Amino acid sequence: MCAMALTLLTIAESSNYKSTSRYEDVIDFIAAIQRADHDIRVETFATTNEGRALPLVIAGPPGVVSPRTAHATGLPVVFIMANIHAGEVEGKEAAQMLLRDLVTTSRKLRSEMTILIAPIYNADGNEKISTEHRRTQNGPPNGVGVRENAQGLDLNRDYMKLESPEARGLVANVLNRWDPLLTVDLHTTNGSFHGYALTYSPMLNPNAAADLIEFERDTLLPRIRERMRSNHHEETYYYGNFVSQLTPEKGWYTFDSRPRFGNNYAGLRNRFTILSEAYSYIDFRARVEVTYHFLHEILNSTDKYGHKMIRIAAQADEQTRRGKVRKAGLRFEIKPWKKAEILWERSLPADPGSGVPEPEHQGETPQHIRRTGEIVPMKMTDYGIFAPAEREDVPYAYLTDASATNAVANLRTHGIVVEKLSHDTPLEVEQFQIRGAKLAEHPFQGHQEVTMAGKWKKRKENIGAGTFLVRMHQPLARLAFYLLEPRSDDGLFNWNFFDASLEGEIAPVRRIIKPVAVDATIIK
Ligand SMILES: [Zn+2]
Repeated sequence: MCAMALTLLTIAESSNYKSTSRYEDVIDFIAAIQRADHDIRVETFATTNEGRALPLVIAGPPGVVSPRTAHATGLPVVFIMANIHAGEVEGKEAAQMLLRDLVTTSRKLRSEMTILIAPIYNADGNEKISTEHRRTQNGPPNGVGVRENAQGLDLNRDYMKLESPEARGLVANVLNRWDPLLTVDLHTTNGSFHGYALTYSPMLNPNAAADLIEFERDTLLPRIRERMRSNHHEETYYYGNFVSQLTPEKGWYTFDSRPRFGNNYAGLRNRFTILSEAYSYIDFRARVEVTYHFLHEILNSTDKYGHKMIRIAAQADEQTRRGKVRKAGLRFEIKPWKKAEILWERSLPADPGSGVPEPEHQGETPQHIRRTGEIVPMKMTDYGIFAPAEREDVPYAYLTDASATNAVANLRTHGIVVEKLSHDTPLEVEQFQIRGAKLAEHPFQGHQEVTMAGKWKKRKENIGAGTFLVRMHQPLARLAFYLLEPRSDDGLFNWNFFDASLEGEIAPVRRIIKPVAVDATIIK
């Protein structure tokens, strides 16, 4: 144990929770931790648009200096990321406090797992600190950063298209390189008035392996929740919003199943994930503390279940590697999950005569509501899961035209194995016959999202040398399917990668349905 580390304070602590740390403060804090404990390592996983190097702190068992040595221990690798939305700052503070514990009071955890911490993911957004941002959030009074990165992109919508250097670095240098078993993503939520200091979500896309989803919902999260209550007297529950703040019995709704969100993305990679949302109406100090407790309880439960979780993740990899996933969803709809007792803050219309309609599950602060401060358990339906609205066969492989270099670059950044056909090859394939490509009414993240219509038709074709081949017998097949199926709700067609060919009759992506010997070389 090191005296210097014990007295080292975060900016939140030293300012008595008036301020949050700036980029330089976080870098200085990490440097002080490294001076106190020479086994703490730091890598740069990305460089932002404004030139900031994003630190990844590595705190593991003795001798863990690389992904290879970390996985050789047979122990879990847990990745904690904070500040993806730089107005939501308590994760950044709690992650630094956890790091301090890992060199002092909680050193023992480092003999049980490797912990990776990216405390300040959206560093460029963080540096725009102002008291004008997130004004309905209860502190810190000296202001917070902004949601977007320097390109104006929301990094928690960039997991599929990978347009930011931050997301590309995160996927390539953390998720591919370190392959964490569990990713924890720290946020702050406004929205409905409820009785939870923190809400959380597992992966919500049903294309993730069922065992992974089940273990997280039935075992991991319930244990963490129970320990938050018994050890810290803090109430937590699945993330959601009341469909109506005034009539909560109408139900509690989770958010979105699409893998543009990090929690859903991690599920498609066959790994565990927890989204954490501290409640923005409790004060800054309480939010830092609940997030910090949550991190400790997540690590405690990962310690308990680590081996089982590693086995479940390995089985999910094996299932895709052997081509056992035969069908998967293209688009999804929210479904009732269970009846639950959910803590509602009794609320009244601010002005009953105003006639202002109440917003329906937008996650917006209901401005015309009067809060009472009284927390009441209410029975209602928890709409906490999704089911496929449309499904499609998972083929043996996808083929994309030799001109689709942007799409292939994206696939390869995700870690998907792409090959190139060595010579012209006659093959039985399916062509996607385009019936229409509808553009979204409103632009989103600089895109006009595309919804494809059409169907697969069998053809014998001579496929040219140089055509790209993505075989689905690989661990990331669930992700590859989602990116390459033309009708996927969050794939590369949706994100305009194939716009140039949408005027034609045939999509530039083909499928090979049955396993067949194809002579191709892996692109390095
Ligand atoms: Zn957020």
